[in-house]
Amino acid sequence: MTAVATPWAAAPVTAIVDGARARLDAGVRLAALVALWSSLLLVTYWWATGGGFQDLGSWADGLTSTGRLTGLLASDLLLVQVLLMARVPTLEHAFGQDRLARVHRLVGFTSFNAMLAHIGLITWGYAAGKLGRTPATLSELTVDYPGILLAVAGTACRVLVVVSSVKAARRRLRYESWHLLHLYAYLGVGLALPHQLWTGQDFLASTARTVFWWGLWIACAVSVLVWRVALPLWRSARYRVRVTSVVPEGEGIVSVHMAGRRGMRLSAEAGQFFTFRFLSGRGWTRAHPYSLSAAPDGRNLRITVQVVGDGSASLRLLRPGTRVLVEGPYGRLCARARTRPKLAFIGAGVGITPLRALAEALDYAPGDAVLLYRYSGRPLFQQEIEVIAAERGLQVIALPGHRRAPGSWLGDGVGPASDLTALASWVPDIADRDVYVCGPDPWSDDVRHTTEAAGLPADRFHVESFGG
Ligand SMILES: Cc1cc2nc3c(=O)[nH]c(=O)nc-3n(C[C@H](O)[C@H](O)[C@H](O)COP(=O)(O)OP(=O)(O)OC[C@H]3O[C@@H](n4cnc5c(N)ncnc54)[C@H](O)[C@@H]3O)c2cc1C
Repeated sequence: MTAVATPWAAAPVTAIVDGARARLDAGVRLAALVALWSSLLLVTYWWATGGGFQDLGSWADGLTSTGRLTGLLASDLLLVQVLLMARVPTLEHAFGQDRLARVHRLVGFTSFNAMLAHIGLITWGYAAGKLGRTPATLSELTVDYPGILLAVAGTACRVLVVVSSVKAARRRLRYESWHLLHLYAYLGVGLALPHQLWTGQDFLASTARTVFWWGLWIACAVSVLVWRVALPLWRSARYRVRVTSVVPEGEGIVSVHMAGRRGMRLSAEAGQFFTFRFLSGRGWTRAHPYSLSAAPDGRNLRITVQVVGDGSASLRLLRPGTRVLVEGPYGRLCARARTRPKLAFIGAGVGITPLRALAEALDYAPGDAVLLYRYSGRPLFQQEIEVIAAERGLQVIALPGHRRAPGSWLGDGVGPASDLTALASWVPDIADRDVYVCGPDPWSDDVRHTTEAAGLPADRFHVESFGG
């Protein structure tokens, strides 16, 4: 693969851009933002009409009142946090997993800080505003008030989750350990409920409040049970996906081909990913996300995997016929994000997988799509990409080599021009395209900076991250 524009077939392809789904997703994102802020304003309004401001007149009552407000905000955000990761299809489509995970993290840390403020302020208030009496008051509240002991246990669970999610700790933990600890968040949320219902005067003070809080709790519980548990199990049972073959693609890289039950249509789009559990031995308890590396046809799936640890290494030994549990499809690095006729795909290493599927499946006229591919060693899918280039008119620009400098997403085989100058010379109309990007997080961030500097609007930069 060389850094040249490949010739393309003459047959014209009508570039179909149905921006309807992208517009719908933008509407959902706006509605979600409005709903979030409205819910925060609503609980603040209820706090105010329940005498929140009047209580600020005295020191001890003021502390208790502010503690009540922070508790309400913390509870609201806590439930929002659960909803964000419940794999609700409308939210998944509108935000994509990357963005949902980022918002979930921000909302989670905010909720946690508000909860700490709630515990501290309300206990201080109950201790008549005397700091020295606060520890004794905390233990009295824990023992005497209904539900508080459970809430303390819930807080301990959340402390565990938050501490393990701080970046420095997260880097030291194995992914599986971090993920297992993260599941304690559900326990933490569940244990907080009784004290809210038994002692939280703001929760059940009117029918509207009862409906609001119970509605939110039930929506969260049902969403998790339906979309995280029941639907994946039902789909796996229905589609009966099995491994059909495992094909080596290069050093440390294999493709796993799978097929679902005859007559069943798996609704997935090129560019999306599934979470897979291969029922071949002990590792089945750990689900791993992999993007489709070929356009799905409704029955057959292909993923292409780089060996980085136990889970990916075990895929090399899979036997045909092995049952596979699938969750998904997920992700919006697909046709639904598209708004422009012209496309650019920018990938690094094994991040080429969803881009190769997109280059195969999306509609574009010859010359309207360009692939920039950075790799070290041998490029993945070289022959397949050459076929797509010849048949579809995909322009291919190879960026060989390791990253040439910190902050640059180009390979060291590319030459001395800056990233922006190089991009502008290869794809002068980059700002008028939809740009699909896949690779490691820091690399994708560098691509984002360059495309932004080249004038690409943020909503036309579509990214899927494979991790740090
Ligand atoms: C949306 C998405 C799509 C992906 N698509 C591909 C692909 O097409 N091809 C490919 O080779 N790799 C892909 N990956 C990366 C792949 O999921 C990990 O490399 C793999 O799970 C590593 O597991 P392991 O047991 O081999 O290694 P480990 O040593 O367990 O993990 C290595 C690193 O992989 C990441 N990781 C591990 N397990 C998970 C998990 N369950 N969820 C998210 N990240 C995890 C963590 O960052 C971890 O530090 C994708 C990741 C994501 C998030």
